[in-house]
Amino acid sequence: MTSLAARYFDGQSSRVHDVAVELLDNRTLCLRGAGIERDEPLENLSVSPRLARIARTIELADGARLLLDDHPLIDQWFPLHNPLQRWVDRLERHAHAVAASIVVCVLSGAVLFFWGVPWMSDRIAEQLPEQVETRLGEEVLAQLDRFAGLAPSSLDMERQSGLLERFAALKADMPGAENHRLLFRNAAGIGPNALALPGGTVIITDQLVSLVNDDREIDAVLAHELGHQQQHHALRQTLRSSFVIVIAAMFAGDVSSASAVVVAVPTFLLQGHYSREFESEADAFALRTLAERGISPAWFAQAMRTLEAFVSDQGESDDSPGYLSSHPQTRERIDEAEFAGEKFAIEHPELYRERPDYDACAEDGICEDAESEEMVSDEVYECVDDDCERVEPDASLESQ
Ligand SMILES: [Zn+2]
Repeated sequence: MTSLAARYFDGQSSRVHDVAVELLDNRTLCLRGAGIERDEPLENLSVSPRLARIARTIELADGARLLLDDHPLIDQWFPLHNPLQRWVDRLERHAHAVAASIVVCVLSGAVLFFWGVPWMSDRIAEQLPEQVETRLGEEVLAQLDRFAGLAPSSLDMERQSGLLERFAALKADMPGAENHRLLFRNAAGIGPNALALPGGTVIITDQLVSLVNDDREIDAVLAHELGHQQQHHALRQTLRSSFVIVIAAMFAGDVSSASAVVVAVPTFLLQGHYSREFESEADAFALRTLAERGISPAWFAQAMRTLEAFVSDQGESDDSPGYLSSHPQTRERIDEAEFAGEKFAIEHPELYRERPDYDACAEDGICEDAESEEMVSDEVYECVDDDCERVEPDASLESQ
């Protein structure tokens, strides 16, 4: 058989003509049917690629078309010259190759999602001007103040300036931390929490300040948030989420959803969609910073325990977005901090008063009875703590 049955559309009317198609001299395609007689050089024709058993279309230069069932003759008439096309064609004929290509597609999608997107986001974050990050931070703060129920702090000025001093001591000599600032907010709906906004702003809630038993727990939390700041986690996380949104928008064809990026930042800050990698980086930074400032990293574990106790006191019915809900894997983090605390104790025996388990009575003979009568045990602890503050300069001199 050298001729094939086809349906011919002349490109002018919707009428279908049955024709027979045949190749002459390997160069000319001849169409013959009732009232149809055309001879067309092959180079003026284009054929649709073969795909499973789908009918093939041959387009003529004047817009006319032939529709015919797939047949090996068609591939003989129109041999593939492009090596890539030939290769794709061969792959398409093999079920194994098709299955493998699906696997390759899914895998490359996963690689793009898990490695490509973070990598690209980080490269963009490095290139973005600082003002962009600052502007994003201002936007996020405005949204938090408006929609997340953040109110002006009710901490008195003395308490605020005391904590600001501690924050300044933490970030002293930290490269790039000159513009990092600490803001206080009363956030009854959010509870004890601390947030690192893009561009250097750290927010601490009054609820967290009043929850902790020792200011060194606040140091630990702030050091963790400074870790997020130093590594631009908020911006990088925002870019990562944006990439996912932009890629999704490209597939869905709805680019307007990309504007959801800025709106999404307060949500991930409050509900914790920081990657685990970022949390671990911020933890490691905090433990290092505390130790460098002569504060035992075990205070980080202590802060976690205080927050954990708060969460369990609240009961499971409480679904407010607390600090721990935005910082999972508490147990592991406590263990890490305890380990760093033990290392600190070995390296700095002279700073024994900086440990959370420092026992003033047993170690320094400063016992409850020796203090003034109105002291209750908690206050003795505070008093001892004050004492520690006083000896700190000497102790740090000794350690140098
Ligand atoms: Zn964090």
